[in-house]
Amino acid sequence: MEILRKSMFRTECDECQKPFPVNSGGVCERCRRILCNEHLHGSFSRRIAIALGAPYVCVSCRAGRTPEGQ
Ligand SMILES: [Zn+2]
Ligand SMILES: [Zn+2]
Repeated sequence: MEILRKSMFRTECDECQKPFPVNSGGVCERCRRILCNEHLHGSFSRRIAIALGAPYVCVSCRAGRTPEGQ
């Protein structure tokens, strides 16, 4: 029964390598990295912007630092 208590829906952030629940982060539309809440959105106000229809673009891409040469 212990298996059922564990969340199976976890993945690792490509930026900080920390595991996080998939429903708290997402994939950046621009660099296609899987990122935790902190590295995808960065701030609470950005989460609101996303909820209002802003694109899923991570903190690094919004800052003009696109990783992996794109
Ligand atoms: Zn992260
Ligand atoms: Zn990005």
